[in-house]
Amino acid sequence: MKPFRILGAGVMGLAIATELATRGHPVELVDPEPTPGPHGCSWWAGGMLAPYCERESAEEPVERLGLGAIDWWDRHTGTVRRNGTLVLALARDQGELARFARRSRGHRPLDAAGIAALEPDLAGRFSAGLFFEDEAHLSPRAALTALRDGLRARDVAFHRAPPSPAPAVQIDARGLAARDALTDLRGVRGEMLVLRCPDVTLSRPVRLLHPRIPLYIVPRGDGIFMLGATMIESDRRGIVTARSVLELLSAAYALHPAFGEAEVLETGADARPAFPDNLPRLRRRGATLYANGLYRHGFLLAPAVAAMAADHLETGITPAFMDEVSA
Ligand SMILES: Cc1cc2nc3c(=O)[nH]c(=O)nc-3n(C[C@H](O)[C@H](O)[C@H](O)COP(=O)(O)OP(=O)(O)OC[C@H]3O[C@@H](n4cnc5c(N)ncnc54)[C@H](O)[C@@H]3O)c2cc1C
Repeated sequence: MKPFRILGAGVMGLAIATELATRGHPVELVDPEPTPGPHGCSWWAGGMLAPYCERESAEEPVERLGLGAIDWWDRHTGTVRRNGTLVLALARDQGELARFARRSRGHRPLDAAGIAALEPDLAGRFSAGLFFEDEAHLSPRAALTALRDGLRARDVAFHRAPPSPAPAVQIDARGLAARDALTDLRGVRGEMLVLRCPDVTLSRPVRLLHPRIPLYIVPRGDGIFMLGATMIESDRRGIVTARSVLELLSAAYALHPAFGEAEVLETGADARPAFPDNLPRLRRRGATLYANGLYRHGFLLAPAVAAMAADHLETGITPAFMDEVSA
């Protein structure tokens, strides 16, 4: 049996490869950069597995499809930390907290003592917050590497260029590079920073609400934090702008002044692949199955999209989120 060929070894391609390999199918991956790295959007992600929080700004399917992600990542990578999400707002932005609570579920309110009990380093800084107990996070770079190692252990081949002969079916998971075929795909720029701040310890992602510049900070352990992320309608990748650095750092400083002393280890930006409604899509055109449009939910939605892709390849069914089937 010819292996399924997957183009793209970002989170989408690796998740589909893992899903198919786990179900016993032969697969091979093709990517000019077959090792996870800064060439892929997935490298820059925060790694929040936050289906309830994301519902605040996303359509209902994002929550529904994202609910299984935590167990999937745990099962396949063992890198998940199930410590929930803390959502906070400064005193002047309490209206934002109330709005966030109305537009999401799966949370409980916290007072100052509750916040201090969860995150002692934030004691005395915030009077109210929301705790999303059933959410989790992971380190995207470690998780991508774990998926790749898991596939390698199953003797899955990684190629830099498509080998001959052509496969019977190929899965295109090239992220934004697939715009040559998926003309309604666009980029949504996200900028991030990595800080070292040994004076602050956090156990879970913290979202600081703001009417214009909402921030999240994801602890990576050992005093390292990922700070993100801007949302700009642009497909520009690469270097971050001064304005974005200023805004992200100001928000981190508002969360805890010790971030003012942090070392900036890394800055980066990439363009999230998104369709007009910001929901993922599967498209079948002849022998090619396209899987794309993960937008800001790459790690949250890749497991569900991978399962739908595998169901389609196994049974021929047209799953939800497959909006095109053509010969
Ligand atoms: C700052 C930032 C923060 C984010 N935070 C989160 C978060 O907290 N949680 C979350 O779930 N999501 C988050 N995201 C979104 C997430 O990163 C994206 O949705 C996801 O990375 C998209 O994955 P992908 O596999 O489709 O694309 P990519 O990761 O870009 O992978 C595409 C791959 O295709 C390869 N490729 C290109 N051309 C070819 C070719 N011709 N042949 C073969 N391969 C090719 C590339 O080399 C690349 O490896 C964030 C994104 C950004 C930018």
